[in-house]
Amino acid sequence: MSNEPSTEPLPHWTIHKRIDWSGSVAFFGLHLAALGALWSGITWEAAVAGGVLFWVRQWAVTAGYHRYFSHRTFKTSRVFQFLLAWLAQSSVQKGALWWAAHHRRHHKHSDQEGDLHSPKRDGFWYAHLGWLFVQGSDETDYGRIKDFAKYPELVWLNKYHLVPPIVLAAALTWWLGLPGLFVGFVWSTVLLWHNTFFINSLAHVWGRRRFETTDTSKNNALLALLTLGEGWHNNHHRYQSSARNGFYWWEVDLTYYVLKALSWLGIVWDLRPVPARVLDEGRAADRARHEQEEAAPAEAQGARPSVAPSIDAAA
Ligand SMILES: [Zn+2]
Ligand SMILES: [Zn+2]
Repeated sequence: MSNEPSTEPLPHWTIHKRIDWSGSVAFFGLHLAALGALWSGITWEAAVAGGVLFWVRQWAVTAGYHRYFSHRTFKTSRVFQFLLAWLAQSSVQKGALWWAAHHRRHHKHSDQEGDLHSPKRDGFWYAHLGWLFVQGSDETDYGRIKDFAKYPELVWLNKYHLVPPIVLAAALTWWLGLPGLFVGFVWSTVLLWHNTFFINSLAHVWGRRRFETTDTSKNNALLALLTLGEGWHNNHHRYQSSARNGFYWWEVDLTYYVLKALSWLGIVWDLRPVPARVLDEGRAADRARHEQEEAAPAEAQGARPSVAPSIDAAA
């Protein structure tokens, strides 16, 4: 999981990316299914369920798929890791092992050949969703996720990755009727997809760069709020092994706060911190940027002809 360029041979499908649009039928089908609410109607119970499920599953995507399975930034029990995978997978983003293996590849080849979702190389929409339909990309590279592939229950869940979302959708339909299915499940799932995909697309395009990493990652406060901390993506590309992506107190990272609370309860432990040298490096970069920004307007003012004397003269 280092930032060093990789020398291993790349699978051909990561280089000659061929999109098979037949694989997108279910994806766009769920978008269309959102229109089912026009027919079923919207109840406030279903809307509340959808809102809660959006945020709870966003947390599971971030804390589970990303910070635990992809980067191992904290430790937990075998039971809780299964629950994390189950909850994350209820967002219909395939198996936890599939997700994490792909994400490790992203860090290994960020914005280089072999990165499956680089807006710099392949364009915004390709990085946002096109890569999902590349032939070969739905396979799990178990060699990349050996540390978790040793748990048979995770391999089972990865193989039958649709079990958690089917159980969730059925439970919502049984509990709240068809509005529960369309609004509670479908709306929140589709919105959560795009919120998650923003990290592959927008977080490499829009925002500020604190660290001069070898990729195009950005820090973006709005995205960090929407994705419960993942918008501090430039921080994350600088140091992937920390349980927090908001490195300083002013960088809101709700996923980390919940993980911290769970650590007080003994459910997770050994949350890996950001090393002091990385924090110092970030502070120095911020200072340099502020100095540059303060110097820039003064220079600009010196260059611009002042209008003040003529206004004074008119008065
Ligand atoms: Zn990235
Ligand atoms: Zn990552």
